[in-house]
Amino acid sequence: LALDRSCPAEALETVAPQPIPAVAGASLRVPLVTGGEIGYANLDHAASAPCLDAVRTAVDEFLPWYASVHRGAGFASQVSTRLYERTRDILRRFVDARGTDTVVFTRNTTDSFNLLARALPQNTSVVVFDTEHHAALLPWRGRNVRRVRLPRTRLAAVSIVDEALAGCPQGPRLVVVTGASNVTGELLPVAEIAAVARKHGARIALDAAQLAPHRRISLRELDVDYVALSGHKLYAPFGAGALIGRADWLRAATPYLAGGGATKLVTEEAVVWNSGPERHEAGSPNTVGVYALGVACEQLAARWDAVGEHEAELLERLRKGLAGIPGCAELRLFDAPVDRVGTVSFVVDGFEPGWLAAVLSAEYGIGVRDGAFCAHVATKRLIGVAGGDGQQAVRVSLGLGSTAEHVDRLVLALRQIAARGA
Ligand code: PLP
Repeated sequence: LALDRSCPAEALETVAPQPIPAVAGASLRVPLVTGGEIGYANLDHAASAPCLDAVRTAVDEFLPWYASVHRGAGFASQVSTRLYERTRDILRRFVDARGTDTVVFTRNTTDSFNLLARALPQNTSVVVFDTEHHAALLPWRGRNVRRVRLPRTRLAAVSIVDEALAGCPQGPRLVVVTGASNVTGELLPVAEIAAVARKHGARIALDAAQLAPHRRISLRELDVDYVALSGHKLYAPFGAGALIGRADWLRAATPYLAGGGATKLVTEEAVVWNSGPERHEAGSPNTVGVYALGVACEQLAARWDAVGEHEAELLERLRKGLAGIPGCAELRLFDAPVDRVGTVSFVVDGFEPGWLAAVLSAEYGIGVRDGAFCAHVATKRLIGVAGGDGQQAVRVSLGLGSTAEHVDRLVLALRQIAARGA
């Protein structure tokens, strides 16, 4: 097409490959214990992703304008309100929500699930895999919770949810499942689990904290009822997230926070609460954080192909490199290879993960995470399957701030560390 001289310029623009969005901090340098400094290799995107350049610029422009929303006739307040409400539409599009779905702004995924837990009808049963991140595993206390052990195949995972739902008492039921594991990056069979949930008349909530930064999500196609996500994992700063999904339970629930903004009318005798998303957003909201989240989502949504290609290439390079490190074993949820995002956890025989991570940082300027990643059951079990006996691992997570040089530096560093011993 590019060679066709009769092709109009606009058409060329639409087919030109989109580069991945640039991240702020790509040129950060960090000190080394051996002296001097080096470009920071941020391989910890799953914890918090670096801010996009475009987000940083947009926030900088917005900062002089921020004001409280829904509360003032002043121009700045109108600007803030417009951008805040516009972000609901951006998020609705970002997850391809149904027209009737609501978007409630929260602090993060944890907050979103705690809000949903509070909004569940009294007698709701909740089915959740025991390997979930604690944010998806724990908020349901006080409900009839069925924690099911995640089996080693995706097919069995779907069947076990089917069985668990069949064993739940009559009444509302909710399945909670992550889109991509924060420990292994593997994708769970969300659409298949949603179909099973539907068969039982149950609802399903998707933990998209790790999926949303890497893959396009469609609530309609997946037939998922709720999705929770965090801005700081989506290349925006901390403090803003969202719960998006069916409005009815949220509309009927006691407000998550009581206070200004959640009310329509307060008299000496009574309180009339709002019935829209503001019902659960009492207090002055994080206008800047919400705006930043919206900008980040727009940036990603415009470039999914480039994002996917970039991450797939780096993931392959990383996994090949790790396979050559003596004693290195990767943690995996499933026996067979499955589609996955660029997150890999591993143990290296004879090396304590915390020590490894500290050496990678101090001597090589590489940022990785070590520990149990707020998924203690998953980590302990998967390390056992991988052949280790600890409870902690090292996690490398790729994203838009990662480069081939970062991956190569990590692999070389691990090779050198393994060769010289702990
Ligand atoms: N779910 C998953 C899969 C995660 O990886 C995380 C954070 O690491 C969360 C939920 C919680 O996210 P937040 O800390 O932003 O609430």
